[in-house]
Amino acid sequence: MSRLGSAIPDDSIAIAGAGIIGLSIAWKLSQRGWRVTVFDKGEIGREASWAGAGMLSLGGEVDQPSRFATLAVESRRQYPSFIRELESVSDRVIDYQECGALDLAYSADELVRLEVRAVAQTRLGIESRAVTTKQIQTFWPRVGSEDLAGGRFFPADAIVDPRDVTAALQRACARAGAKLLPKCAVLAATVTKDEVEVQAESGEERFQAMVIAAGAWSSSIPIAGIPPIPAAEPVRGHLVGFRQPEQTCNTILRHAHTYLLQRANGLLIAGASVERVGFDRLINPEIVAWLASEAGRVLPHLNETAPAEAWIGFRPGSSDLQIGSWHSRRLFLAYGHFRNGILLAPITASLVTDDINANLRTR
Ligand SMILES: Cc1cc2nc3c(=O)[nH]c(=O)nc-3n(C[C@H](O)[C@H](O)[C@H](O)COP(=O)(O)OP(=O)(O)OC[C@H]3O[C@@H](n4cnc5c(N)ncnc54)[C@H](O)[C@@H]3O)c2cc1C
Repeated sequence: MSRLGSAIPDDSIAIAGAGIIGLSIAWKLSQRGWRVTVFDKGEIGREASWAGAGMLSLGGEVDQPSRFATLAVESRRQYPSFIRELESVSDRVIDYQECGALDLAYSADELVRLEVRAVAQTRLGIESRAVTTKQIQTFWPRVGSEDLAGGRFFPADAIVDPRDVTAALQRACARAGAKLLPKCAVLAATVTKDEVEVQAESGEERFQAMVIAAGAWSSSIPIAGIPPIPAAEPVRGHLVGFRQPEQTCNTILRHAHTYLLQRANGLLIAGASVERVGFDRLINPEIVAWLASEAGRVLPHLNETAPAEAWIGFRPGSSDLQIGSWHSRRLFLAYGHFRNGILLAPITASLVTDDINANLRTR
């Protein structure tokens, strides 16, 4: 990093945004010897990456070939080693559970849809197996069985607590030498052939390159010297959490747009709404009640209790996943992860790090 007027160190990289994406990139770049400064307009890891449920869910999210599908499958493959290494370098425990997911069908039509989707998923390497109503009643006795037609079990789906991941990344980044600047927004940037001038709340500084990883806010940072970057938009989601005894829900349960999962600390989470309402942070009691009733359909005993918590987050929507250089070897994008940014963090960090190395230096 360099103040305007002095020479720019060869290996300085600025990152706008300290969510799971910006922090994962910062960690990987620091490991490769880059001098990284991460700016965040608020607290570290307190936006979508704090709100996310943390499903690592190929079974629920991927059903046709696409770049997203390829990256999601590869990122899921990398997850166990990503978590192991992160726990080791940060000395923090991460709630990561290879618990599988059960998709439920409450009509014959829903069951056929699950089976058709499973055929397409098998071609992508996503395995699942049919589960009968009787098996569900035996192995998941709390699941609502009225009108239950059957289900499919996805053994490779998993969950992680994203708040554990960002806390561990924060420490891993600091230990690897990255500089994290909370409450220090990037206000604007100018990209030239030789450098990026960053105007932040802390002042103006020059870097070899910059990564935009500001989630739903990414395209609100004015950037001169290049064509406009693709639009990012917030897609709000509500989640609710029930306090439950541990092991109440030992696998992800899904029905239609509802999912339930349980953290190791007992918090049983149900989600999620999908709303295009801008950056409105108000929690809507009607949506909370609707999520609670959907959760109660899957696990009827939840009808006897009210959610202990409700929260919202802004998924980073965009026309596509934005990962890679943008009209310059000095500017790199890492946003648009929408509902899968927790899943896609490892592969995004690898791709951006490799891209920066290839463009700027061989390390
Ligand atoms: C309800 C909900 C449920 C979800 N469930 C899942 C799930 O089960 N599995 C999954 O994989 N994903 C899930 N997601 C999606 C996932 O949470 C996101 O895709 C991921 O967190 C995006 O990470 P990010 O780092 O890009 O964004 P964020 O975590 O939002 O981080 C962006 C950061 O940029 C900062 N910033 C903004 N403007 C500036 C600026 N000008 N200068 C500097 N910093 C700035 C912000 O303060 C923020 O800290 C869910 C999301 C929501 C909301």
